[in-house]
Amino acid sequence: HAKENGKNKAVFCSSELKAAQNRETALSNDLYQAIEQGQLSLHYQPQVDGRTGEIVGLEALARWDHPQLGLISPGVFIPIAEKNGLINELGDWVLREACRQNKAWEMMGLGPMRISVNFSMVQFMAAGIVPRIAAVIQEFDLKPKTLVVEITESINVYDFTQIDQTVQDLKKLGVAISIDDFGTEYSSLDRLKNLPVDEIKIDKRFIDGLPKDVSSIGIIRAIIALAEIFDLELVAEGVETEEQLEFLLAAGCRVIQGYYFYPPLSAEAVGDLLRTIHEQRRV
Ligand code: C2E
Ligand code: MG
Ligand code: MG
Ligand code: MG
Repeated sequence: HAKENGKNKAVFCSSELKAAQNRETALSNDLYQAIEQGQLSLHYQPQVDGRTGEIVGLEALARWDHPQLGLISPGVFIPIAEKNGLINELGDWVLREACRQNKAWEMMGLGPMRISVNFSMVQFMAAGIVPRIAAVIQEFDLKPKTLVVEITESINVYDFTQIDQTVQDLKKLGVAISIDDFGTEYSSLDRLKNLPVDEIKIDKRFIDGLPKDVSSIGIIRAIIALAEIFDLELVAEGVETEEQLEFLLAAGCRVIQGYYFYPPLSAEAVGDLLRTIHEQRRV
């Protein structure tokens, strides 16, 4: 019987796997239409000065509203886009949309804001990435420093020289560069010292350990010290509680992104929020 069960289990597992693969293939196919048919959108999560509550930036986060399946998370569709070759087209759409929206807010007297846009390593390594970013900035007549290019440090990095060159070229263009999920993958301090990076983001997994977990505290204190030494801006991601906020402020990290202040919001909701803030200021 044991053998039979084992056999059944194996069959069950491989059919599960098959189903998962089928789902991924279906999503991969659907993604081709998603951009053209306007199923993608951007939400924007405010980054806040934790001491004053002032909004100091926004991170653009891609959303896919699938006609049958509903909202699909970027954690699911970005890796699919990297596999099926759509990532550059998708990334160009995200960048253009974020810049278009930023210009629109500026025209309404609500900006320009500092907007962070995520680039996966695959995108960042793609040929022509710097001229494409330059072209979009020019198209919408934005100040380069209003754009923050977020790259996730990655263990699977093949060609550091190329990455370093791209970072230098972007720097010349005047955009800001941020290292996302800092501390979770491979990062050499020597590279940090030599690269003209502007900002690092403390990953949510370390923030989750606050205010008690000793190793999270140690890592966060080390990252804050690094930021001071290398004169980098610092953003804490995934801050959900007042205890986490208090710890970070006391430890010297001011810029906070997380549900404690705001979740990612639709462009419309961000517009309303900025309008309210501007009106309060005028009073
Ligand atoms: P990320 O860049 O590290 O973005 C932060 C993620 O944490 C976002 O998830 C955000 O919604 C979530 N988050 C922020 N604050 C909190 C909090 O207080 N609690 C919790 N539980 N979560 C919080 P999201 O939007 O699902 O994005 C996941 C990842 O997908 C992003 O991680 C980023 O790596 C990637 N991504 C999103 N949009 C794009 C895009 O346009 N292009 C590329 N290449 N990647 C993207
Ligand atoms: Mg990010
Ligand atoms: Mg992150
Ligand atoms: Mg992340």
